[in-house]
Amino acid sequence: PLCSQEFQAKKSVVKVRDIEIGNGSPVIIAGPCSVESREQILTISTNLAAAGCHILRGGAFKPRTSPYSFQGLGHDGLKLLAEAREMSGLPFVTEVLTPVDVELVAGYADMLQIGARNMQNFALLREVGRTKKPVLLKRAPWADVVTWLQAAEYILAEGNFEVVLCERGIAATQASSGRHLDLAAVHKVQNLSHLPMIVDPSHGTGDRRLVGPMALASLEAGCDGLMLEVHHQPETSLSDKEQAISLEDYDGMLKKIKLLNSQM
Ligand code: PEP
Ligand code: MN
Repeated sequence: PLCSQEFQAKKSVVKVRDIEIGNGSPVIIAGPCSVESREQILTISTNLAAAGCHILRGGAFKPRTSPYSFQGLGHDGLKLLAEAREMSGLPFVTEVLTPVDVELVAGYADMLQIGARNMQNFALLREVGRTKKPVLLKRAPWADVVTWLQAAEYILAEGNFEVVLCERGIAATQASSGRHLDLAAVHKVQNLSHLPMIVDPSHGTGDRRLVGPMALASLEAGCDGLMLEVHHQPETSLSDKEQAISLEDYDGMLKKIKLLNSQM
C-alpha cells in the first residue's frame, strides 16, 4: 500500500501553508468545536495566535449525533474562519461532511478534516483525494489501526499524499467510560506507515480535566501534534461543552508542553 513503510521508509512531512506536520517538532491545532459567531471565532483565534498555536480549528459543518443539536453555520462559518485566518495569521482546518461540499470547503480551508463518523465514507475519501488540500483523517471509534490506514489509502490512491492521521479515542467495550484514548496506536502507526499522526485528547476523553494530562502523554508517546478544543467561554459552547478548555488553561498547558519538549 502507498501509506506503508514498504512503499516509503522515510517519514512524510505534510505542509499546511508554511506549517510542517511530521518534521519532529509537535504542531498544535486548536480552536472551538464549532464556529458559533464572528465575535467568538475572532476572539478565540487572535488569543490562540498570541498564546502560540500553529493551526486554527473550527467546525462549520457539524456531524451531530442528534438532528436537533446545533448543526454549524455552514457556508457562513467558512467565511468567518477565513476572516479569523486573516486577523490571526493562522491557517485553518475544518470538517467536510459530504462529497458535494468538498469543492466549497476546499475553496476556503487550508486543510480538510474527515470526521470519525466518516472514516469509511469512501466517496468522500475519494473526493478529498482528488483535491490538492492536506487532509486530516480521524480514526473511527470502532476501527483498528489497519482499517484506519486502509481508509487513508483511499485518499493516497487518488493522488493526494498530504494525509495526517488523528487518533480521537476508540469505543470502550467493557469499561464504564465510553472512550479510550489509544496512545499505543502512535507506535503501531509509526511501525506501519510513513504518514504523520496527531492526537486529539479533547474528543478522546470528553472531559476538560483530562485534556492537559492526556496532551502531555500523547506527546510523550511520540505523536506529531495535538488537536485541542478551546473556547473563550467554555460553559457557553454550543457543542462539546464538557471538553472545551479555557484560553487560560490553554496558556498553562502550552507552558508545560514547551517544558516537556525542551527536555525531549
Ligand atoms: C470535531 O473535531 O469536532 C469532531 C466532530 O470530531 P470527531 O469526528 O473526532 O468526533
Ligand atoms: Mn467537537
